This record gives sequence, structure tokens and C-alpha cells, in this order.
Amino acid sequence: METVTRIGEMQSHAEELRRKGAMIGVVPTMGYLHDGHLSLVARARKEADVVVTTLFVNPTQFGPGEDFERYPRDPENDERLASRAGTDILFMPATEEMYPAGFKTYVLTEGLSTVLEGAFRPTHFRGVTTVVMKLFHIVKPHLAVFGQKDAQQAAIISQMVKDMNLDIRLIIAPIVRESDGLAMSSRNVYLSPEERKNAVALFRSLRFAEDAVRRGERRVETIRNGMEEILRNAHVSAVDYVAFVRPGTFEVVERIDPPDILVALAVRFGKTRLIDNIVIPVS
Ligand code: AMP
Repeated sequence: METVTRIGEMQSHAEELRRKGAMIGVVPTMGYLHDGHLSLVARARKEADVVVTTLFVNPTQFGPGEDFERYPRDPENDERLASRAGTDILFMPATEEMYPAGFKTYVLTEGLSTVLEGAFRPTHFRGVTTVVMKLFHIVKPHLAVFGQKDAQQAAIISQMVKDMNLDIRLIIAPIVRESDGLAMSSRNVYLSPEERKNAVALFRSLRFAEDAVRRGERRVETIRNGMEEILRNAHVSAVDYVAFVRPGTFEVVERIDPPDILVALAVRFGKTRLIDNIVIPVS
């Protein structure tokens, strides 16, 4: 595996690979890699000739007072893990080169980026779409792999790719979980041992929703109340939202109708904010 830090070098590399006819796959990450990230690398490995994993803690997607400064970082371990998972090129740009003084241009997907996560983190998705667009122009990928863990992000990037006619195939890979069901996340390290135990309630509440729908329950409020009770019993300090939406459009649904529904939630344990979701088929 080769590590590239300069934007220009990555671009000429990508250009050369394209000239040779290589299919480039990209996996954007903020590092502190875990098996969720590595599953995306493995998926890219299957689909592409050259896998570029990007590692960049993107300041523009963090709001004031969020965890940008203390976001966990371990680039040396990330290099080992990325290489072992099948990365050919690890792209780790410097913040000063990605956002030099005088940076003024942002990419914004309207509507989708103001609901759920966007309502609690108003500038978050603008930062995400901006950095992903930049990474696409730097890595010049034919395909890109994102995780369903960040379902709204995946929907927004799909919309951006469509709206901006980007010639990039998106693959959305399933959520990788710990053995007790907690979705893997770099932010899980913030949890105290007690909070870590209680955090299984996120998945438990999503499974509760799945079971309820399977049993024929179609009332959103009834299911939401049951989910919130599970979360409260796990001593979450806040439930930011438990949302029932159409997958893809994130349009809020009043009733659970076929063919499927996405249940997404965000909770806090102290300062730590965790998100999770499930897509439930409805017959
Ligand atoms: P992050 O480093 O948190 O920005 O995540 C980078 C990519 O990995 C995003 O596409 C995430 O959706 C994806 N990802 C993060 N956690 C998981 C997980 N547990 N399972 C699958 N994909 C994940």
C-alpha cells in the first residue's frame, strides 16, 4: 500500500490509473478505522481494480461545540488496518491543503440536509457534500462505497451524484455491528463502560420496531413510544429523534405502509451522540 498526502500527487496518480484503464474505487473515511470501515474497503476491493481509502477528519462537517478537536485519531494503526483490508492507496490530505485560507465554495443538497441529523447539526451535511465532492475530484473514482450506518448521508450523496451528473457508481454497504448489536462507530470509544453496556438499547429499540411491524403493527406513535421506553430505561441523556421515513427520500411517514420503512434514531449518552437505523420491509 502506498500513502499519498498531496492533492496534486493523488490527482496525477488517478489520471495515470484511468489512462491505463484501471477501475478506481474510493472509500471515504475520517479514520480511527474499525470493522465497519474495513467492510467497505473489502467491498471496494471486490468491485474495483484499485482501492483508494481516504482518511480525513473533515472540519467543515463539525458544528461549533462538536467533537472535531477530540475526534479519535490513530493514523499509524489506520495505515496497518487499511493495508490489511486491501487498500492500494491511502490518501491522507492535510487540512491546510484541503481548506486553504480563502476557501469559499460549498456544495449543498437542499431539503434532505435540513431534516433529522440536519435539524440537530445544521451545517453538517454541507460539510459532508463539500468534502465528498472534493474527494471525488481528487481521487477520480469510478465507484464509491459508503455505509448504511449513515443512512441520511448515503441518501444525500446519492442525490448529489444524480443532481450533479457525477459519473460514479455508489454502493451502500450494510451496517457492521458488535456482537451485542451496537453499530460500530469511531465515537463508541467515548462511552464509559456503563454507557457502553446501555448503548445496546439503540439496536434493541430498532429490533423492537422490526418485531412490531412484523406482528402487523402499523401505527408509528405506538412503535415510537415502545422504542423511547427502551431508550429511557437505558438511561440515555437525550433522545434527539426517533424517525420513521421513506428510505431514499427521508420523507416522514404517518403510517407504516409497504414496501418498506426506515427507522432512524439519534440519542445521547452525556456528550456522546450515537446514531443507528434499520430498514424494515412492510408487506
Ligand atoms: P466515518 O469515518 O464515520 O466518516 O465513516 C466512513 C464511512 O464508513 C461512512 O460511509 C460510514 O457510513 C461508514 N461506516 C461507519 N460505521 C459503519 C458501520 N458500523 N458499518 C458500516 N459502515 C460504516
